[in-house]
Amino acid sequence: MPIPTLTVIDHPLVQHKLTLLRRRETPTARFHEVMREVSQLMGYELTRDLPLEDRPVETPLATFDAPLLTGKKLCLVSILRAGQGLLDGMRTLLPSARIGHIGLYRDQETLTPVEYFFKVPEDIEERLVILVDPMLATGHTAVAAVHRLKDAGAASIKLAVLVAAPEGLRNFHDAHPDVPVFTAAVDERLDGNGYILPGLGDAGDRLYGTR
Ligand code: URA
Repeated sequence: MPIPTLTVIDHPLVQHKLTLLRRRETPTARFHEVMREVSQLMGYELTRDLPLEDRPVETPLATFDAPLLTGKKLCLVSILRAGQGLLDGMRTLLPSARIGHIGLYRDQETLTPVEYFFKVPEDIEERLVILVDPMLATGHTAVAAVHRLKDAGAASIKLAVLVAAPEGLRNFHDAHPDVPVFTAAVDERLDGNGYILPGLGDAGDRLYGTR
């Protein structure tokens, strides 16, 4: 069944850059650079529906009403550590957004998330939250992160991932049908270790050159 809150960002530049990230031979520095580029493009799509309000502006020649952003301020929240890769580019696009961090790691046996860090702005209930994590695999981490954000008061949340597995999308939507999901690709499935196939491998390891 289709997921009504899902947007697949099919812009050619996003698709091309995702393929560069998927390539096994893409080295760490290039991976980081391309992740930053792709996240800027994704940020553009994620903010497409931000409200505007006409306000008077004086150009050198005339005064007229011109659109400016209005409504909720933004907060970017990264799920450590791979989320930092998507955060960088979005932060360039949205320099006045506040930044939050959620530290969750996947228990390798149970594949369930364990929290070790949580810090978000105090006024999070007044902000539109964009939660970023490159890989939506089982969805357990994103589900837990959104529960924590809601517990902290967040009322308006979007999730941005680079690659999603169908299982993760379904789990996430079942838990948080009110949270729109943006992804560059929906891949085939998970392997036995919870990695996305074909995917791009371990996003954190590829971003930081660890194993
Ligand atoms: N996390 C990753 O970094 N890669 C996957 O394929 C799944 C989870």
